Amino acid sequence: MKGELDSLAAATVLRTYMSRRGMRCTGERLKILDAAFASRKPFSAPKLAETLEADGFHVSRTTVYGTLKLLVDSGILRKSVGTDGASVYAVSRANDHKAQLHCRCCGKTKVVSLPEIGRELLKRRYWGFSAESYQLRIDGICSRCKRAADKSGSKP
Ligand SMILES: [Zn+2]
Repeated sequence: MKGELDSLAAATVLRTYMSRRGMRCTGERLKILDAAFASRKPFSAPKLAETLEADGFHVSRTTVYGTLKLLVDSGILRKSVGTDGASVYAVSRANDHKAQLHCRCCGKTKVVSLPEIGRELLKRRYWGFSAESYQLRIDGICSRCKRAADKSGSKP
């Protein structure tokens, strides 16, 4: 269910991104987006084309590569180089709606998931600006530092 919502949010990001550049978001591109989200692991462009083909959806390699580039440019996917030197793609973590909890005392960070807030941040209308991704850090004190401070009686 969570994956479904995120892929819908990503489709909105893609549509906005493309319309701003005077491009049309075709069904083919949305299908590629869906397939990218359905893939739980990082994938290569040929692998994605194969998956689509196996689904009975024929799409040219050019379209696959072109769409993957758009998805990377719009921040939906991130691209990295695999062990064999080929490009691999994965859904960008920005769409996982993660926030970092940062301890201002020891500097340690912990990642938490905030789907409601994350979606809200991207859905919100900003004056003269179109949001595509975000980074969220919450500063505070971790329980370990707090305990240490409570014991010594000093303020962390
Ligand atoms: Zn700490």
